[in-house]
Amino acid sequence: MGDKKVDIGVLEESSSFLLHPRFFPSKVGGKPAWLDLKNLPSPSETTCSSCEDPLIFLCQVYAPYEESDESFHRSIFIFICKNGSCCQSNNAENFVVIRNQLPRKNEYYSFEPYEEDENEEFSMEKWSKLCEVCGTKAPSHCSKCKKIYYCSRKHQILDWKKGHKEKCDEMKGAEIVKPCNFIVTESGKGLLFKEWELVVDEEDEEEATNVDENSEMEKLRKLMQEKKAGSLTGVSEAELDQYTQEQPVDKVFNKFSKRIARHPDQVLRYDRGGAPLWITGNTNSVAHIPNCEYCNGERQFEFQIMPQLLNFIDVGIELNSIDWGVLVVYTCKNSCSEGPAYKREFIIKQDLSQ
Ligand SMILES: [Zn+2]
Ligand SMILES: [Zn+2]
Ligand SMILES: [Zn+2]
Ligand SMILES: [Zn+2]
Repeated sequence: MGDKKVDIGVLEESSSFLLHPRFFPSKVGGKPAWLDLKNLPSPSETTCSSCEDPLIFLCQVYAPYEESDESFHRSIFIFICKNGSCCQSNNAENFVVIRNQLPRKNEYYSFEPYEEDENEEFSMEKWSKLCEVCGTKAPSHCSKCKKIYYCSRKHQILDWKKGHKEKCDEMKGAEIVKPCNFIVTESGKGLLFKEWELVVDEEDEEEATNVDENSEMEKLRKLMQEKKAGSLTGVSEAELDQYTQEQPVDKVFNKFSKRIARHPDQVLRYDRGGAPLWITGNTNSVAHIPNCEYCNGERQFEFQIMPQLLNFIDVGIELNSIDWGVLVVYTCKNSCSEGPAYKREFIIKQDLSQ
């Protein structure tokens, strides 16, 4: 079973316009490329349950169910709280995962695929007001110019400081032609994750022969160790000792390292209905998977986000940065259409540390 074919996602630079919703991308960072453009989740659904900051878009995976017309287009979105203090070991409460799907014939997109034409008009504003900073649903606007929309007071203040203060007056009364509200603005740059295209392809079947397995394992071990050290800054020496002591051999981790050596830069493993590749035998985080809250049907494993993603989104390894071992996503097996357009799914965060 562990040798079943899975798809692997790696990151590539891409022009932002090719990651626009009309191309149904899989992507990391920047603004979310919403699928249903009208029935967006409200800001309260993408707010951190502990610090109440707006969550930031981490990534989305385009994964249609080909056998069903209801989910001819289908994307899974992951949001995260960027506050390191909300990031607890083996606890995924700082994440939200949502699923959205559309039939091929829908009110937003043409039936046939779009040409890759950068100048094609496609305004998302037609359907929903989006936050100037983070690209999520924006119920409020700048009260002075009434031209720029925000998801939250926090992002309005950030945008004001990062330049809207200077532009607000001239925007008042002016006919604003915004080229595309999908592009990351100045105020979004420091806050949002670096934008990448997530390119998905089949995993190589055989162990890569030219890869020195041990050195790949060593690299990964070092990365995880640095992360561990980073998150341990400021703790007592006794606690540190615990981590520097010889750890017992973790067979699950060894299997993990060996498998990912085939594609050391993988950030995603996609294997709908398969089994996750756990990073450690420590199962503290491995919870009971609740049924779909909309149809009450079973959920199944769909994909996992790998720790390598942390290297691509500039989160740093300083004290209190966000971190994970693997992020394991479970979705409704039927990919049901009940409930709201954007449906919550289930995520487990497994870490190497206890
Ligand atoms: Zn938080
Ligand atoms: Zn926002
Ligand atoms: Zn204004
Ligand atoms: Zn369901």
